[in-house]
Amino acid sequence: MNPTSLTITQPDDWHCHLREGRLMKTVTPYSTEVFSRVIAMPNLSKPITSPEHARLYKKQLLKISPSFTPLIPCYLQENTLPETILKGHENGDFFAVKYYPRGATTKSHLGVANWKACAAVFDAMSEINMPLLIHGEVTDPQVDIFDREKLFIQDILIPLIAQHPKLKIVLEHLTSAHAVNFVSHADTEIAATITAHHLVLNRTHILEHGLHPHRFCYPVAKTEYDRQALRRAATSGNPRFMLGTDSAPHTLDAKHQHTISPGIFSSPIALPLYAQVFAEEHALDKLEAFASINGPQFHKLPLNTKSITLKAIPPQDNPSYLSLSETPANTKKPKPHLSLAVFQPPIPLQWSLSSIQNKNPS
Ligand SMILES: [Zn+2]
Repeated sequence: MNPTSLTITQPDDWHCHLREGRLMKTVTPYSTEVFSRVIAMPNLSKPITSPEHARLYKKQLLKISPSFTPLIPCYLQENTLPETILKGHENGDFFAVKYYPRGATTKSHLGVANWKACAAVFDAMSEINMPLLIHGEVTDPQVDIFDREKLFIQDILIPLIAQHPKLKIVLEHLTSAHAVNFVSHADTEIAATITAHHLVLNRTHILEHGLHPHRFCYPVAKTEYDRQALRRAATSGNPRFMLGTDSAPHTLDAKHQHTISPGIFSSPIALPLYAQVFAEEHALDKLEAFASINGPQFHKLPLNTKSITLKAIPPQDNPSYLSLSETPANTKKPKPHLSLAVFQPPIPLQWSLSSIQNKNPS
């Protein structure tokens, strides 16, 4: 029998897109009311490549939500200088470095085509134990889209680790049994994030009864076999696996056009959805490690001082759509460029957030 209520140390989100402008104002509070630290990805319209830009972005986020800790990675480019990384790390502006293979996903066209061009940066990072966060997909158009993660591990990640054995690595948003197996057994300092949506979606869910734009993201969900491997990994208690929602909002106009933008906006329901998956796997006792302990341990940060309580009751209020902040109240029918869809899992949500409190109330 699963418990119907669970209190865990407040979690962190080790991979999230808080975007910019009105989208940022709308989505940020949904992350920060749950997560204490949030890695806010640097793939903005102008990517974050300088410590000054990271500082400015952090300031904008803190203006929206003053009580969380935004962690900003530097957007890696082939011409990124080791000095820039070292300076940004020393001043606390850069938490990590983000490696987007060029063309792999949203706003990655300025990313890295040849990782060997970044050798000096990887050497500098290895010296200071700074993590490299990796979107692990090859972008060769010859490679089937469902094989891109596997091929990335074979053709890029294994040689990269061989070349830079002391580099600390997070392989992000795992989608395949192959990646789970690799991370579980790799003989290097490596961890991986797993999203809530990849624990509940397989590729059939994206295509059944018509195409579901709000179940479409990169890396695209794989087979049921892969999804089961992800669920086993997340709920295993293995300290290498940690929570990273990869919540990636797009306005409806970007999701409902000829080419659908990849990305799932999950932050309003992510933690209850993880709890639901762990309950289904009879592993609620492992949720705290995955959500709140493995991340800080890997990144050598203290555990959060608050705790959060979840309950096995469906949420009272789980809107399918949100209007962007500052949308005029008299706007009768929300316009596609002013609204966004919240991820709806294939099985309705059975868990909800109850409260957040100090760990030892006195
Ligand atoms: Zn992402």
